[in-house]
Amino acid sequence: MFEIVIGLEVHVQLNTNTKLFCSCPTSFNHKQNRNTCPTCLALPGALPVLNKEVLHKSIMFGEAVGATVNRTSYFDRKSYFYPDSPLAYQITQLYTPVVEHGVLELDFEDGTHKTIRINRAHIEADAGKNIHEGDTSKVDLNRAGTPLLEIVSEPDMRSADEAILYLKKLHSIVRYLGISDANMQEGSFRVDVNVSIRPRGDEKLYTRVEIKNINSFRFIQKAIEIEVKRQSEAWEDGVYEDEIVLETRLFDQNKQETRSMRGKEEAADYRYFPEPDLLKAIVTEEMYEKYSKIPELPDAKRDRFVKELGLTEYDANVVTSTLEMANFLEEMIAEGATAVGANKWLTGELPARLNNGMTLETSPINSKLLATLVKRIEDKTISNKAAKDVLDYLFENEVSVDEAIDKLGLKQVSDTGAIEKMVDDIMVANADKVEQYRGGKDKLFGFFVGQTMKASKGSANPQVVNEIVKAKLG
Ligand code: ADP
Ligand code: MG
Ligand code: ZN
Repeated sequence: MFEIVIGLEVHVQLNTNTKLFCSCPTSFNHKQNRNTCPTCLALPGALPVLNKEVLHKSIMFGEAVGATVNRTSYFDRKSYFYPDSPLAYQITQLYTPVVEHGVLELDFEDGTHKTIRINRAHIEADAGKNIHEGDTSKVDLNRAGTPLLEIVSEPDMRSADEAILYLKKLHSIVRYLGISDANMQEGSFRVDVNVSIRPRGDEKLYTRVEIKNINSFRFIQKAIEIEVKRQSEAWEDGVYEDEIVLETRLFDQNKQETRSMRGKEEAADYRYFPEPDLLKAIVTEEMYEKYSKIPELPDAKRDRFVKELGLTEYDANVVTSTLEMANFLEEMIAEGATAVGANKWLTGELPARLNNGMTLETSPINSKLLATLVKRIEDKTISNKAAKDVLDYLFENEVSVDEAIDKLGLKQVSDTGAIEKMVDDIMVANADKVEQYRGGKDKLFGFFVGQTMKASKGSANPQVVNEIVKAKLG
């Protein structure tokens, strides 16, 4: 009876070399408060200057989601006091953001699609960090002034699944563009989820609750489900008006509940006004020309993989979900593996062996190694089953595929001479069975194949054995 309404705000940390308004480095693995200067410390008299790289990356994003890239955008002050924000305001873009009116296409497993509207993407400065140790708290301003692109969707999603699809797609796009590390654990892709419910068929929007800082797709899914439950129960109990208020809530993954964190400030409380210390941000035609030429995005790559490589739509979707996997596949094909074989091992057997936080990049199996393994199956040097043992061995030992095959003695005998000899010997030793077979006992065919496989200790190529046995028995 209820419809779920979800709108998402995603803060993407842009991977620029220097901060948004000063030339401090953006790397965090430094001593606390080391990457700071009068500007990002908000010392009196220090003035911000826009880092152009931020504008370049914003153009790329705008282009990727088919949005309008405003040739002129402006900065505004959003006032709030928080210890990790020394300016006591955040510089952001309220009235005219750099990017507006984009779209993002969701693809469902059943082959249907849905377009989610992106309201805007605006540039803003990140805050520092409060560090709480026992009964003291410290402020680290290394992150203060780091550039963020906040991407705000329209409330177009109707389920937790749609929200997750949207986030995964967005994540994949910014990674493809190379404008952010988008590492959720490290906070370079932070999601605020806005959730409300409404009676089915109702057009108007009901009160939303904002759930902040959830750092994994799985937890986001869970938080939405739990919050929807809370809201619909309040409705059914007749206490919706009292209990569901515009507020910011936190998701507690241990208690599996959302909890009120603070009332949501109304825009008036932020006392927004145009930032007087900055010039307007101008995207010149030359700049636009240069940065709107973006690399191939996940959807286009998926379609190309279907068309050029003959992958199924489903397989192509999986393998293009990250740029690393898509590149890995193309490298394997360049090494001579077939697309289907390469895809099967890359998306199946390899990830099944990546545990303890190992990733495609940190695994000892590179594209050349996996491609060679697939080629050895395809040229019938080893069986599919043996290849799994070889892959296990390669995880533990720094050797080539051929060395591993030798070492494990898994080479398939496809040499017809050797197999013919085995079949001959078996026929001599089982002359009676040969007679029976020839007399019409067809079932004995399997016996000869089995004996040959056994004689070869499983290393004979079964297909070759079949052919030879058939020819010899006549
Ligand atoms: P704020 O910064 O105050 O959170 P924004 O306008 O930046 O406000 O973001 C509002 C977000 O909430 C947008 O993603 C929007 O789609 C979403 N939203 C607005 N109304 C609703 C609603 N009734 N239910 C769910 N999401 C909503
Ligand atoms: Mg919000
Ligand atoms: Zn600085």
